[in-house]
Amino acid sequence: MRLYEHEAKFLFRRFKIPTPEGILYRTPADLDMVAFPCVVKGQTFVGGRGKSGAVQFAENRHEAVIRIDELKKLVVAGYPVERVLLERKVDIKKEYYLGLVIDRIRHEPVLIASTEGGVDIEEIARHRPEAIVKCSLDPQAAIEPFFGRKIASLFGLSGEALTACGIVVNRMIELFFEYDCKLVEINPLALTVEDRIVALDAKIDLDDDALFRHPELKEWGIELRHEIGEFTEREKKARAGGVPYVDLDGDVGCFPGGAGFGIAAIDLIAHYGGRAANFMDSGGAPTQARLKLMLELLLENPKVTAIFGARFGGISRCDDWAKAVVQYVIENKPAKPMIMRMAGNMEEEGRKIIEDAIADNPALFKNIKIYRYDTPIEEVIQEAVRVAKERTGG
Ligand code: GDP
Ligand code: MN
Repeated sequence: MRLYEHEAKFLFRRFKIPTPEGILYRTPADLDMVAFPCVVKGQTFVGGRGKSGAVQFAENRHEAVIRIDELKKLVVAGYPVERVLLERKVDIKKEYYLGLVIDRIRHEPVLIASTEGGVDIEEIARHRPEAIVKCSLDPQAAIEPFFGRKIASLFGLSGEALTACGIVVNRMIELFFEYDCKLVEINPLALTVEDRIVALDAKIDLDDDALFRHPELKEWGIELRHEIGEFTEREKKARAGGVPYVDLDGDVGCFPGGAGFGIAAIDLIAHYGGRAANFMDSGGAPTQARLKLMLELLLENPKVTAIFGARFGGISRCDDWAKAVVQYVIENKPAKPMIMRMAGNMEEEGRKIIEDAIADNPALFKNIKIYRYDTPIEEVIQEAVRVAKERTGG
């Protein structure tokens, strides 16, 4: 569960990690409590707010009112900015990067630090990998105070700033473990012109499965509602119909059998140079209504130029699948090519349903291919990728 910046900063303050004085804007009266000049920050989960205009500055109250109005009209990556954080503007001398994540390959928490803060860490990794330091952490061992100071000295800090930065590193690690985090990130961690250390930004991702260990979060208003607010319209529609579905940004619509194959299909599409438009799971033996919804989601998505489908008949039978597909095609006359494969339980019966439908209405099915078990899935995916590319025009 991702936290908004203002929520992450709330946790930072509980761990005594310094953040700028600030307030989550609710009513104009809140402006009485703001110190100017201030930073006006739209609360979104999408990073790079600086670039998308969701971080603004205001010299005075009048400007703040204008910036707040502008931000509340702003949509970042499809998500409207609903709340705005107002913070005293800090004069920055230098920006650093601090991140704590789980390394999924080495199965251990790792601290990532860089003197090149303020920009995306991915960007630093690409252009100046030597500017990034990574340290594995032992979750069983207590953190030594010198650990944080070692990082601070790698930053080239000295004196009080070194001590303060060292403390921030160690407290960030404490927070990471205490709250079962998947990510804690401070980017930028600022050294101010007064040589103070302040977390200007805050990102926290909590492990949903460990939320029950932290009932106090709910008391503080931090609960699972967030991600729901961030669903796209299609994701909401899918959810309402019982279909696990995630929008991605490619052009190959995925209509897979199950979740595991759904994920594998996304990888295979990428392997063959394409980009999947979505993740989707039929969820066990899907009803005709649910199969219809699954196809609808893909056909309505303007980014999808071709559909890749696979039905490995197991619990869910090929003939049920074929019936749903045929019925959908007859009723909706989809214009997008569908490149699919059907194999497994009740395959012959399914094939007969499809062949009969094609014989009755060849024109309607001319863009729809349903391969048999003897065509490897890799070939079906390659064809879907190629057709999508031709139609997307790239
Ligand atoms: P992000 O772009 O979503 O990561 O949002 P950030 O909170 O990191 O803000 C983007 C950038 O705005 C930072 O990297 C800073 O350069 C700048 N910024 C944010 N707060 C302040 C501030 O108090 N003072 C100054 N001078 N710049 C700030
Ligand atoms: Mn940032």
